Amino acid sequence: MSDAGAPGGTHDVVVIGAGMSGLYLLWRLRQLGVSAIAYEAGGDVGGTWYWNRYPGARVDIESQEYSFSFCADLEREWRWSERYAPQPEILAYVGHVADRFDLRRDIQFNTRVTALAWDDAARTWAVTIQNVTTKDETVVTARFVIAATGCLSVPNEPAFPGQETFAGATYHTGRWPHEGVDFTGKRVAVIGTGSSAIQSIPQIARQAAELIVFQRTPNYSVPAHNGPLEPAVRDAWLAEREANREAQRMSRGGFLHSAPGEGRALDAGDNERTRRFEERWQIGGFAIGTAFEDLLVDPAANETVAEFARRKIRETVKDPVVAERLAPKDYPFATKRLCVDIGYYETFNRPNVRLVDLRETPIDTLTPQGVRTTQESYEVDAIVFAIGFDAMTGALSRIDVKGRDGVALRAVWKDGPVNYLGLMVAGFPNLFTITGPGSPSVLSNMIVSIEQHVDWVTTLIGQMRDGGLSVVEAKPDAQQAWVEHVNERAASTLYVQANSWYLGANVPGKPRVFMPYVGGVGAYRTLCAAVAENGYLGFRMSA
Ligand code: NAP
Repeated sequence: MSDAGAPGGTHDVVVIGAGMSGLYLLWRLRQLGVSAIAYEAGGDVGGTWYWNRYPGARVDIESQEYSFSFCADLEREWRWSERYAPQPEILAYVGHVADRFDLRRDIQFNTRVTALAWDDAARTWAVTIQNVTTKDETVVTARFVIAATGCLSVPNEPAFPGQETFAGATYHTGRWPHEGVDFTGKRVAVIGTGSSAIQSIPQIARQAAELIVFQRTPNYSVPAHNGPLEPAVRDAWLAEREANREAQRMSRGGFLHSAPGEGRALDAGDNERTRRFEERWQIGGFAIGTAFEDLLVDPAANETVAEFARRKIRETVKDPVVAERLAPKDYPFATKRLCVDIGYYETFNRPNVRLVDLRETPIDTLTPQGVRTTQESYEVDAIVFAIGFDAMTGALSRIDVKGRDGVALRAVWKDGPVNYLGLMVAGFPNLFTITGPGSPSVLSNMIVSIEQHVDWVTTLIGQMRDGGLSVVEAKPDAQQAWVEHVNERAASTLYVQANSWYLGANVPGKPRVFMPYVGGVGAYRTLCAAVAENGYLGFRMSA
């Protein structure tokens, strides 16, 4: 391998993105003595935490668990202030990681990768990079390319009739202005009621004169019960650090409360079932989703927890009509990503907040003054689009990727993403995806899945170097079998019954394929390790 590492020219590895994945990749590759450069479209590190600065943005996995585990000293040095850290603190943490491990020298910011072309004769990728300001393009070459592009990095662009006529300010939660937004005294519309909206609505409601929430589908949301991270909790976590981290890695979702509770929901009596739901509700966050082992596979079991959640909404929201609109009824609990909130339902008791149900009265058009539904016109000064992302495939499909024989990734993925183990696509040698579709990714604590993928990929690259091998690719039959397995596993759950972004249902025209792997973080890790131990089964390597 070359030892060239300067921007431009030739690199052993090009990493796309400098979020959590990109940073950990740079560190691992440096440990291996492999030259790498990361190209990052943003002006600094952080990925999702760099872009998503909307009011109320914070992690929905407990802070200690949503952090790197690869360095015990890093973990001991850093103090999270809250149980669920707010976005500025997480961004500061990512910046600290970049500085502590001196990673910025291997990152070129404000640079977007626009095209990748595999050169079979040279056995390298030609990587076209673009300066985001000047749009000037340069081509560099690399033996390997690793897409650390994130699962939720490309905003779902609003496409409402008349939106260009709206005279007020517009914002997208996924591209929030760095200087912040002051809504004091303003009339604000929020369109969307996913996690981003559910976090930002209580904050915006406290500032704005009037807030109108436009809801197409109500979401299930569980209270975070956020608060300061008590020193005793931190000390207890650190005292059992190794065991805690290993438990995360082998768990279903990459966090400790993701271990399914024993037994089936309907086997428990009414009292026991309610007691367990209540206990998990009081823990907060995702704990309730795993209260029983069958909540995500048996519709009747799921209905018990769905009804429990609806009851909580009815108890909290004073206006019964609003409560019914907020209560999801036509898809199973937690089959769209469960939201974790701080005072979301209570916000609808405020006199300055209104809820518009777009199922009853769809948006007709945006006007210079605001939002017009089929029933009413709402005059606002600002519109917040909290409409989510082109998830999982969005970032890679915006890069013109051409593999062996010039075959386009977009063509291979036209009916939905296919790959082997979520790591490589047949016909695209030496191109890896970190937390790609077909891996647990968004169904897990992303940091745990990122570390697992990065460790696996960098170990392979190191072993190839040591063995004098220069090309690795997924075999088509292994890919086919994996795709079938991913689909079969998803079909055996209730996940496929909701119109979620897991299925691409939020982006008009996107193929409807369940993208993440539901098999669980621990089982998937074991499988990937077995593949490696057995000579990288399903992969072909050559010198
Ligand atoms: P989202 O979950 O996809 O929610 C988007 C919302 O916008 C949905 O309510 C959707 O309605 C609505 N919507 C989309 N297009 C619309 C249209 N044309 N008209 C009206 N409504 C429309 O996006 P998100 O809230 O940004 O969250 C995405 C994911 O990011 C989350 O699920 C989570 O994984 C992650 N996230 C995590 C955190 C955290 O860790 N704390 C915070 C924010 C986000 P439908 O449901 O009808 O499509």
